[in-house]
Parts: sequence; C-alpha cells; structure tokens
Amino acid sequence: MTETNPSASQPLVGKQITLCITGSVAAYKAVLLARLLVRAGAVVQAVMTRSAARFVGPATLSGLTGQPVLTDMFAGAGEPHVELAKRSDLIAVVPATADVLGRLSGGRADDLVTATLMCSRCSVLIAPAMHPAMWTHPLTQSNAERLKGLAGWRFIGPEIGEVASGEQGVGRLAEPEQIFDAICEALLPAGMASRRSLELQGRHVVVTAGPTVEDLDTVRSLTNRSSGKMGFAIAQSASRRGARVTLIAGPVALPTPAGVLRVDVRSALDMQAALESVLGVRLEKADALVMCAAVADYRPVSSEPTKIKRSGELVLRLVQNPDLLAEIGRRRGSPAPLLIGFAVESATGAELVALARGKLASKRVDAVIANTDREAIGTDDTRAVLVTRDAERAMGPGSKSLVAEQIVDFVVERLG
Ligand code: C5P
Repeated sequence: MTETNPSASQPLVGKQITLCITGSVAAYKAVLLARLLVRAGAVVQAVMTRSAARFVGPATLSGLTGQPVLTDMFAGAGEPHVELAKRSDLIAVVPATADVLGRLSGGRADDLVTATLMCSRCSVLIAPAMHPAMWTHPLTQSNAERLKGLAGWRFIGPEIGEVASGEQGVGRLAEPEQIFDAICEALLPAGMASRRSLELQGRHVVVTAGPTVEDLDTVRSLTNRSSGKMGFAIAQSASRRGARVTLIAGPVALPTPAGVLRVDVRSALDMQAALESVLGVRLEKADALVMCAAVADYRPVSSEPTKIKRSGELVLRLVQNPDLLAEIGRRRGSPAPLLIGFAVESATGAELVALARGKLASKRVDAVIANTDREAIGTDDTRAVLVTRDAERAMGPGSKSLVAEQIVDFVVERLG
C-alpha cells in the first residue's frame, strides 16, 4: 500500500525535490541524501552536470530515486528545465561548486542545472563544497552573497574540516543528515518542520571544547593536540535544535557556530572560573554540561614572568590541575544538570568500555563518551561509544558533525 499522507516516518510524501549534483569529490554524499529523501517519501529527480557524472554514476542515483537522471537540456522533446522547475517543491544543489555559484550569480543558464534554477520560483537550497582557497576567494564570496540575497534561496555550509586534498579549512560539504533537516525545515509546515529545531528550546546547554594551554613562561606552554572540532560540532547541533548554548573554548582557530555564545579561555584554571560563572554556584544555570575539552591534567608550579634562559638540564615541576568534571559531579546534588564527560584512551573495544565505566563512577556523571586517541584527537571523522550506567551505544563512525548529532540525540532523550 502506498502512503499518500505525510507521517512522522515519511514527512516528505507528496513533495517533489530536484536534486542538482555538480562536479565535486563530495558528490558521493548526494547519493546518501537522495536515499534519505526517498526514505522520507519524497519524489526525487536527480539532475547532474557533465562533470558531476565523473564523480558518481548516474546509474546509482537512478536506481535509488527510481527516475532516470537528467543531464542534457536537449535530450527529449519540450523544455525540460521549464517543466522541472514548475513541478519542483524545492531544488537542492548538493554539492555546489565554485563554478556553479559563479554561473548562477552571473545569470547564466548554460546547462540543465543552471537553466532549471533560472526558471524556478520554489525554495532553493545550496550546499557548497570546494577547496577552502576557492571558498574564501572574494569572487566566490561575492557570488554566494548575491545568491543568498535571492528570495527563497538558502545556503547550508560549507563546514570546517578536511577537504578532498587532505587540507583543513572551510569548504567541506555539510553532512547529508543536516541537508536533509534543512530541506524538511524549508518544506514542512512550521509545527512539523520545527519539531527537531524545538527539541531543546528553553534549555541551556554548556559545552567545553579544545585544549587548555598551561604557560611555563612568557613564551612557552604545555598543551595537547585537541582541535576543538568535536565540542564545536556539539555546540552547533544543540543550537540548531533550539538550545541556548554557551561554548567554553580553549585556544582553537575555529569560527563560532551560529547563535552560540562563546567564552574563550586559556588554562584549566581559566576554564574552572568560566564554568563557575556560567553554571552558577548551585549549578542551577544549565540543563546539560558536555565536557568535551581536553583539560590539561598538570600545570607548571609557577609561570615565570620572564623567558626561561637556557642553562643545562631543566627540570619542570608540575602540579595537578583540578578535575573540573569530577568536581562538578561531586557538587551536583540533584539530577540536574545532565553531565556528560569524554574519555580519550589508547585502549579499544572492551578495555575502552571498562575504562569509560570506571570514569562514569569516579566522576559521578550520567554518560561518558569514550574514544581511542588515534580516532579522536585532531581528526575530522571519529567513532565512539557512549556509556551510561546500564547501556552502551555506538556513535559513528562518521564525521564529528554526525557523531555530534548522535550525542545531542542522547541529550534530547535525557532532557525529555
Ligand atoms: O580523566 P580524564 O582526563 O580522562 O577525563 C576526561 C574527562 O574529564 C573529559 O570530559 C574532560 O573534559 C574532563 N576533565 C576535567 N578536568 C581535568 C581533566 C579532565 O574536567 N583536569
């Protein structure tokens, strides 16, 4: 039996989505998006530029969508771009290259993708993906700004992270799940669409992220290789779901996610002071605390006011920093706030879970998210296990944005 009315599991029944794919290595993610859309009940028409077809096979997309993939303006009779634009409820360009942004911004209509968009009056969602040097180029930026100014046109991403070349920066395609959510938001009536974006409304979520830096003198410091990406992705996801988010960040070079209040700190003691003021004396100011920061366990006994001179052997004397999470766990009288800690270990499998269980008890927290150092510190993709008193849940493998969504799903479940 075919369903004709939207339901919770198939919210996009009756919606026609044109999925335009342009030539980027990230095109494979459009396949995953097509699958999510079809599963949600949408009719998906894939359109590919010629270069997109060099990255993903049209056969894969037509197999998934049940429709032949369109690539050519002149393949059939009539005017496919006019027809397609007319019957679309939404046109998504995933991934959008610098080239397609340039052509659209210049009003060009020299292939089926651009011609269809030039005919459209429906919602348009653009998900750029390119090398960071191309995305940050003033030409791309002004093209994107021009397109963002069009009524009904929205951008999602690009995200920070590793791009195809292996370099880091802003240019990575948003995750298929995020693009799917943005499509639902654009197409569904406020009540239905915003269900996800209201999940944490009225809640205050505090996230710590990044390393701490412990100064030895005016020049040198002790720190670790935490990039802050996981914590920033959690803050972003919680904010998208309607929470008020405070992000206490050690020194990292990441942009602040939209709508998030950021408090920059340097050392573990700075982070302790920031937590005190953000959480309140009785921890009454937060509904959830996600301690993702790699807080230094030790700091120099003193930070020298002048640069330490070279003179033979140097012995560093370190004192232990307070365990910020354990302190909060000890102080927490009532079940609020929800406390989530992280554990980066060199162990894997059952040994990793056992260590996480130990921390769950010793730090008196509600959940510990454990991962292996090689799969966590500084990487874009990760996998983890979320350990609670009576369960274990695999997170990922996938991008840190995806794992962040799963962690925030847990926060939503627990905060009810
Ligand atoms: O004991 P371990 O450092 O492995 O615990 C990791 C967890 O504890 C993380 O959530 C981290 O943010 C927190 N932590 C802390 N203060 C420290 C060290 C770790 O809050 N000094």
